[in-house]
Amino acid sequence: MTPATSATCATGGWETVIGLEVHVQLRTRSKMFCGCPTSFGDPPNTNVCPVCLGLPGALPVPNAEAIRLAVRGALALGGTVHETSVFARKNYFYPDLPKGYQISQFDRPLSTGGAVWFQSPERGRMPVSITRLHVEEDAGKSLHDRIPGKTAVDLNRAGVPLAEIVSGPDLRSPAEAREYLKALRQLLVYAGVSECSMEQGSLRVDANISIRRPGDPKLGVKAEVKNMNSFANVERALVAERERQVGLLESGRRVQQVTLLFNAATGEVRPLRSKEESHDYRYFPDPDLPPLVLDAAFIAEQQAALPELPDAVRARLVAQHGLPDYHAGVVASERPLVEYFEATVSAGAEPKAAADWLLESVLTPWNESGRFAVEPARLATLIGMVRSGAVSRQAAKAIFGEMLGSADAPVAIAARLGLVQVRDAGTLTGWVEEVLAAHPDEVARYRGGEQKLMGFFVGQVMKKSAGKADPKGVQPVLAEKLKP
Ligand SMILES: [Zn+2]
Repeated sequence: MTPATSATCATGGWETVIGLEVHVQLRTRSKMFCGCPTSFGDPPNTNVCPVCLGLPGALPVPNAEAIRLAVRGALALGGTVHETSVFARKNYFYPDLPKGYQISQFDRPLSTGGAVWFQSPERGRMPVSITRLHVEEDAGKSLHDRIPGKTAVDLNRAGVPLAEIVSGPDLRSPAEAREYLKALRQLLVYAGVSECSMEQGSLRVDANISIRRPGDPKLGVKAEVKNMNSFANVERALVAERERQVGLLESGRRVQQVTLLFNAATGEVRPLRSKEESHDYRYFPDPDLPPLVLDAAFIAEQQAALPELPDAVRARLVAQHGLPDYHAGVVASERPLVEYFEATVSAGAEPKAAADWLLESVLTPWNESGRFAVEPARLATLIGMVRSGAVSRQAAKAIFGEMLGSADAPVAIAARLGLVQVRDAGTLTGWVEEVLAAHPDEVARYRGGEQKLMGFFVGQVMKKSAGKADPKGVQPVLAEKLKP
């Protein structure tokens, strides 16, 4: 691990300090405090009831599955889950918040502490400290594009369960923020806590960013950037905001504590409003909800039920299968890839070859279609055919391409495409003799000591055989026939 130095992280004599607040939707079928569905894309205001509409007299009941998933997420981040946490009301007025407050957690969150390791482009593998994870409900959505000149409100999202994950101010560049988000998403998807889809709104990011002189122990005045709809845009927005702050400070002005919205079309950030101090929300414990009490046995049970997480998988792929770090990182990035890789190895493929095939040929069609068209056992057979010399690596690529659209065995496809390598000594000798007869000058030079011409002869035989000759079989035949 490379230690942080001012030289690697400073831009134009300034050090950037970033902390992220990430909201992830917990993967439940129903909302946080009522039974309404959480399904995405339903017609506006169809998944609502007196509780999530905030009608008088309606009482919230916590969703046990949402709590379980939040605990699981907190444990996956290495956090300490508290046996008692408290739901609090966060009071503010906004048209998409019918109750006039959001149920969240404030001074007693579900979990504190933890860390996420990520690959910094500047500093290598680094941990980001997690300050806290708390449970809250989502607000509704204001729609500005449905009715010309008017704003409509859709309350389907009101009350959807969220976990908010707050990181420490440990990130030192916009690129680091992006990499941290990738690592965090990987972890939460692995643990089955959230789908983490920015397109469907199940992962949202608010970023706090400030700049200071390298070595200055005090943090600069921060701005909060919102409205970023992809990890790439988080990076772009933070670059824009860093430049804005550098411009202010270098021209002798000051950074104000503001909330900014990112405009992806223009790449600019613009101020929304002066940042409310947290006491403006007048948090207080929700009188409708008793403190959330979890017993130690339940927390221990959730800890034990966690699957092997990405860092552990990566380390195991290196230790157990001897994969290079890069291959292990790609295979470990998603659970279906790990399962596919291990099934291919179990079916007899050599691990490094299985990983090569996964990275070079399997990954792209899987990303496009979401399914593995070539079953692990068929890929293992194909890998075995390359290893035994039955087909060349190049021919195997063509066979794999056919396998994507056919359930036939690779051997059958190889035969159909005429790609089975010829190792029959008689046939190889025939081709070798034709090649030597056609190139008497090269034969003379080889016999005169120009050993490097062997490659030329092998190439000619491959050409003559239309790629079907097994190069490993050709060489000894050539060596024999070229003897003076
Ligand atoms: Zn409801």
